[in-house]
Formats: sequence, structure tokens, C-alpha cells
Amino acid sequence: MSASSKTHVVIAGGGTAGWMAAAALTRVMKDRVSVTLVESSDIGTVGVGEATIPTLVFFHKLLRISEQEFMAATNATFKLGIQFENWTDIGHQYLHAFGVTGKDSWAAGFQHFWLRGQQEGLATDFGDYCLERQAAESGRFAHLPNNGLNYAFHIDASRYAAFLRQLAEQEGLTRIDAKIEKVSRRAEDGHIDSLHLDNGEVISGDFFIDCTGFQGLLIEKALHTGYEDWSHWLPCDSAVAVQTESVAPPLPYTRCIAHDAGWQWRIPLQHRVGNGMVFCSQYKSDDEIIGNLLSQVQGQVLNEPKVIKFRTGRRRKQWNRNCLALGLASGFLEPLESTSIHLIQQNIVRFLRMFPAANQIHQQDIDEFNRQADFDIEHIRDFIILHYHVTNRTDSPFWRHCRQMDVPASLRHRIDLFRHTGRVFREGSELFDDSWQQVMIGQGLRPASYHPLVDTMSRQELEAFLGQIRQQITHTITKLPPHEDYLKRYIRR
Ligand code: FAD
Repeated sequence: MSASSKTHVVIAGGGTAGWMAAAALTRVMKDRVSVTLVESSDIGTVGVGEATIPTLVFFHKLLRISEQEFMAATNATFKLGIQFENWTDIGHQYLHAFGVTGKDSWAAGFQHFWLRGQQEGLATDFGDYCLERQAAESGRFAHLPNNGLNYAFHIDASRYAAFLRQLAEQEGLTRIDAKIEKVSRRAEDGHIDSLHLDNGEVISGDFFIDCTGFQGLLIEKALHTGYEDWSHWLPCDSAVAVQTESVAPPLPYTRCIAHDAGWQWRIPLQHRVGNGMVFCSQYKSDDEIIGNLLSQVQGQVLNEPKVIKFRTGRRRKQWNRNCLALGLASGFLEPLESTSIHLIQQNIVRFLRMFPAANQIHQQDIDEFNRQADFDIEHIRDFIILHYHVTNRTDSPFWRHCRQMDVPASLRHRIDLFRHTGRVFREGSELFDDSWQQVMIGQGLRPASYHPLVDTMSRQELEAFLGQIRQQITHTITKLPPHEDYLKRYIRR
């Protein structure tokens, strides 16, 4: 490959990860890359992954994707957060919203003011001070100026892949529908050299992106990168997914309903609802869970329940030699906070930033990439474990295990800091910020003290401060249309 020629990137796999990478490379690096994607329609995709977080809005901006076209093509709805039901106690619920709660001062987060307000009977529920949460609970939505309402989407996963495929093919991507039978490596440096397909073709490339799902055909089977298992912290290892007809207007949030060995999701799209149960096979069999799920869904069931097995953890390197793993090939964190598509896009954007010059892959780039990717996934891992560990539930062996299990030291530190002082600090560029307070309070954790600065306010000042935030939110909410009305108008525009 000469310095002036294009880098040939070969993407193995055409699920959400493969097509997101294909669309990004062809749109953003068009003049520097030629891209070939190999997928097997006989093997198919995992077929789930339908709830997203607000960072997808920015990914689409980078790719110059029209939001209306994307939403129409994927039957998408807006999402303002996730409602957690039965997580703290059976019958209890709270909503983790995408927005910011209340107003911070430079020294103390809003939770400190709220804590004193609670102690003095001046403050209502923590979520009453978050616009996105109130909009979600009242079923309302609109785009507000200056990104005034943070949102994400619920999407049809297979339609999303098809939408991105169309975009990438328009930009000149070559797609091959065939099965990869063998991956060959160069003798001199162990880099991947080519993919051997069942139609007899041999596809060589400069760089390979492994999007082949859980098996990691390139990153693991060919390069033997290794896997770090996190199932001792996140014991769920199975899921069952099924789609149903919609029976009500789509809610602008995902529902996550805890059960005695895991949890259930409900993801409302325009035309149907995605349902599923995540569970720990040590406590429940596939058949029991399928029975439970089918007895709890609403509306006509549209497909056979699909069982998916997984092992929580991550590939020891996301980028190894001339191969980057994305999506399920790179590791797996269960979908409780809808973070997998976010991690795919993070690693795509990171890769674009570190895109190797022709024929020059620097080990320094690889190390830096893996360091940053490790940071991202470890923080998200901790955040997900928090939901399981901080709970009052003791009604089943699964929940007793989660309450008692050891957690990573980084999470233990956060929980202890919050429990004693009410303080939460965002570390570097970690994804979650206000979310930590929302979920710790939602899960029933109450700090023993608050910042002394709060006591410089008189009771009347505190009451006025809290009341004003609530009033502003109520004022905004009354002007928002119902989610479904806004959605219909928006995608037809
Ligand atoms: P797949 O969809 O498995 O695609 C693999 C591709 O590789 C396919 O095209 C296949 O044909 C191809 N392939 C495999 N072997 C070969 C071969 N030998 N030759 C040729 N091609 C081959 N993420 C979220 O962000 N939000 C969610 O709400 C969410 N929910 C989830 C729920 C569950 C139960 C699970 C398991 C995951 C969920 N995820 C979610 C994660 C999300 O589904 C994935 O991150 C996303 O779908 C990406 O999958 P993928 O493209 O890596 O793999």
C-alpha cells in the first residue's frame, strides 16, 4: 500500500456494529479508504439492541444523517430515560432520565440541597427536579431550543442495519454475502492477511474490523486475544427476546422491570414492542423464563421467542495488530442501561481519530486506543453493577447474592463516598454524570450528610430555590405535546 493509495478496510459481519462502522468509514473517510463488508445472510444477526442513549444523536450528526429520515426508516420513537421497576423493592419505581436534576452550585451538587430539603420536609421526590424525567412520566416530548430536552431513540435493530447499509452502499462500499471459512495471517508479523469465503473468494485488506458477534472470528479465533470474564459481578448470562404488536401509544422511555432472577425490558417502537427477559441461568431455566415472558407481554406475539446466551466481560484488547473488534465481538455488558451501541460508536469515533496512516500501524496508537476503551467500559460496568448491588431486595437467592457479592474497588469507593458525604465526582470523560445520583438515590441510598455550604441558605431561601426549579419544569411540561402526536408530525415533515 503506497502513502497515496487508499487503505482497504475489510469489515467482517453486518449486524449493527458492522453497518455502523461501514457507514462511518464511508461517510467520514471516503477519500482515504475503500471498504468491503462481508456478511452471511445464512447466519443472520443477533436481532436485538433497540434502546439507545443520547450520544447516538451526535453520531448521526457526524455522519450527516437526517433524524427524520432515520426515524421513519427504523420505526423509531423518542426515549427520555429508563424506568426501573421493582429494583429497590417490589412495588417501587424510579426513572433514570437523560437530563440533569436540579441546579448545582460550583461546590455542591444539587443532591446536597435536595437532601437538606428532604430532611426539613421542603423537597419532593428527587425526580421532580428533572425536566426529562417529568416529560417522560407525563408522556410528552418535543425538541426544545439549545438541546433543552436530552433524548435518545428506540429503534428497530434490523431496520437500522438496513438503513446504514443503504447509506454505505451509496458511498461506494462493496458488500459480499458469503460465509467466512478461514482467516489467514501473515507469517512475518502475525497480522491478518485475508478472509477466505465459502464462495471461493479471498478478500485481503490492510485493516480488518471484527463485527462477527460473540464468537469474535478474527479477534479471538484467529488472533487469540483472550477474554476477561466479569460474570462474578454481573451474573446474568441469558436472555429471551420476543416482539409483540403495540396495544397502546408508545411511551417515551424504556421499561426495565426486575424479576426474581433478572429483569424484563419493554421497548416501544412505532409499530411494535420489543420485549425480553435477561436472567441468570443458575436460578431459572430457559423454559421457565419463556413461560414467564409470554405470560407478561401485552399484544399479539409476532415471532418465536429467541434465547441468547452470553458471558459478561471484555476482550483483553479491543484493537490487536491490524484488527479492531466492535460490538459483541469486543465483549458484552448486559443491556440494562442500553450502552452497547454507544460503545460501538465510541470505538468507531476513536478509531477514526487514530486512523493509521498508510501501512503504518503504530503500537502507541493501539495502546492508547485500548487504554481509553478500557476506561469507558469499566465505568459503564460499575454503573450497571450498582443497580444490582444497592437494593433492599432479599426475596430470592438471586437478589441475596447481588446484595452480598463483592464489587469492583472503584465502585465500592463511589458508593461509600456517596453514602457518607453525598458527593459524586465525574471521572475524566466517563459517560455517566448526573446518572450516578439518580440511580443511587433511586436504588434507595441516602447519604449520611450534605455539604455545609447548603446551611448558608435560610429555610425560606431553600424552599424558594427548590420551588422555583419545580415551577419552571411544570411550566415547560405543560407546553409539550403528547409524545405520539409529536412523533407523527415530526417524521412526516
Ligand atoms: P451480530 O448482530 O451478531 O452480527 C454479527 C454479524 O456477523 C452478522 O452479520 C453475521 O451474519 C456475521 N457473521 C458471523 N459469522 C460470520 C461468518 N462466518 N461469515 C460471515 N459473516 C458472519 N445494545 C444496545 O445498545 N441497546 C439495547 O437495548 C441492547 N439490547 C440487547 C439485548 C440483548 C439480549 C443482547 C444480547 C444485546 C443487546 N444489545 C443492546 C447489544 C446489541 O444487540 C449489539 O451491540 C448490537 O446488535 C451489535 O451486534 P453485532 O453487530 O456486534 O453482532
